[in-house]
Amino acid sequence: MSTVIDGKAFAAGLRQRIATAVEEIGTNHGIKPGLAVVLVGEDPASQVYVRNKGRQTVEVGMDSIEHKLPVDTTEEDLLALVDRLNNDPAINGILVQLPLPKQINEAKVTNAINVDKDVDGFHIENVGKLSIGEDSLVPCTPAGCIMLLKNQVGDLTGKNAVIVGRSNIVGKPVSLLLLREHCTVTIAHSRTRDLAAVCREADIVVAAVGVPKLVKGDWIKPGAVVIDVGINRIEGEDGKNRLVGDVDFDAAMEVADAVTPVPGGVGPMTIACLLRNTVIAACRQNGVEVPEVVQ
Ligand code: NAD
Repeated sequence: MSTVIDGKAFAAGLRQRIATAVEEIGTNHGIKPGLAVVLVGEDPASQVYVRNKGRQTVEVGMDSIEHKLPVDTTEEDLLALVDRLNNDPAINGILVQLPLPKQINEAKVTNAINVDKDVDGFHIENVGKLSIGEDSLVPCTPAGCIMLLKNQVGDLTGKNAVIVGRSNIVGKPVSLLLLREHCTVTIAHSRTRDLAAVCREADIVVAAVGVPKLVKGDWIKPGAVVIDVGINRIEGEDGKNRLVGDVDFDAAMEVADAVTPVPGGVGPMTIACLLRNTVIAACRQNGVEVPEVVQ
């Protein structure tokens, strides 16, 4: 019988450990980490993300600072805000919610964030450090995938991992993290020939594509572990919208050892890992060791 990997429960446990860490560094070092989230415009999905981030930040005992800017904000004004946050000692983590309106260059803004406060892990210097295996702030969703995998499988050494998707946000960083865990890594994408055959070789499949139920049951090797990052809104038979992943979950459950569901798998890990990055950033900025509970 396959296991449903409960990302919701794992993330709740991680948030509890983060709360313990926040209390510890508060008591021992007088540090209260602060996370600034910047939202430009009124994209409904982004508004929900930002609200959830703010709520969970406060729940673990950290300060949440939200900056909501109008959709016609200039790049210059946004860069000026980032600069202020970079220089504010009460702010340990800065997240600029993507996507940004088209008049603003996303890469320019991302790379303007102080690299030590880049809790999203998208600054080019953090990306570079990740790629050469140096300590860095690691992108949140990929970090969450690895935590779930290690919790399920244990040591990942020597496993064949196939990552479907090569985005800078998910596919590539997940691949680098799995390489760090000594997996043999294959990155597949929209130009890959015979994707089904490539997936069938995998002990670990990570799907980060954005195509509903792309990965079929017969693409999965019996006993493999499947991490589904995809979040796709589709219309159900009842005419109502529902969320599905990039993997045909029911079919995967017939063959795999374990599968993450959508929702309730990788999704909840993203914010938990963002909070963890903020604690790590606050500790590093203050020259304090990161509490063991969140290491
Ligand atoms: P993206 O569009 O930037 O990248 C998709 C990748 O999939 C590309 O590299 C492309 O080559 C590949 N691809 C597209 N069609 C393919 C096909 N038919 N066969 C093989 N490969 C194909 O997407 P992204 O930002 O990496 O996000 C991927 C999915 O993960 C989306 O559904 C997104 O909503 C979800 N996501 C979830 C979280 C979370 O859980 N918190 C975070 C980020 C992204």
